Amino acid sequence: MIGAEGPLIDRCSRAGCTNPASAKVNWRNPRIHTEDRVKIWLACDEHSEFLRDYLASRSFPVLVTGLDQDVSVVPT
Ligand SMILES: [Zn+2]
Repeated sequence: MIGAEGPLIDRCSRAGCTNPASAKVNWRNPRIHTEDRVKIWLACDEHSEFLRDYLASRSFPVLVTGLDQDVSVVPT
C-alpha cells in the first residue's frame, strides 16, 4: 500500500508480477489456521494456476475464484 491517492488496483500476489489481478486464490494452512480462516492471494491470469499448484503441493486446501466471489470456507 503506497499512497492514498488514485484508484486501487488489485495486483497479482506473485513476487515480481505487476499484472492486475483477475482471480482470488483462497487457501488456508490446516496446521495453523482453523477451518473458518481464509487467506487470500490475488492472481493474474498467468499466475492463478501457479499459485494454486504451489499451495496444493503443500497439501493446503485451495480454491480459485473470481475477484467478486467471497469464500467463507475453503473445502478440504
Ligand atoms: Zn501474476
